[in-house]
Amino acid sequence: MAETIFSKIIRKEIPADIVFEDEQVLAFRDINPQGPTHVLVIPKEEIATANDIGEEHELLIGHMVRVATQVAKDEGIAEDGYRLVVNCNPDGGQEVYHIHLHLIGGRKMTWPPG
Ligand code: 5GP
Repeated sequence: MAETIFSKIIRKEIPADIVFEDEQVLAFRDINPQGPTHVLVIPKEEIATANDIGEEHELLIGHMVRVATQVAKDEGIAEDGYRLVVNCNPDGGQEVYHIHLHLIGGRKMTWPPG
């Protein structure tokens, strides 16, 4: 897949407000937040879209969800609630083709999404 801006963030070539990092994932604040808390959890492995998740990624994707829920607790939004979103391809509103989990919270969300 073509490299995205998120690869540069992983390599620390461009700055990001990182809230969590380990050998598998990076979590950092979205540059255009859609709520008081808006954190992106990304794998360090380049996976373009949700369609590219294979059996070999099951543990990694589970880890991304666990990291997101831990960040929600750290941010103090776990009890009130939050939204976890993966946008896929144009109809899903995906802009960056390096898979990422949006953690959005700190405000009341509406449903259905636009
Ligand atoms: P998507 O629409 O692909 O699901 O979400 C991409 C997200 O990445 C958007 O919410 C956008 O604001 C965020 N984003 C794009 N470029 C950057 C960047 O350079 N730094 C940070 N922190 N977030 C970015």
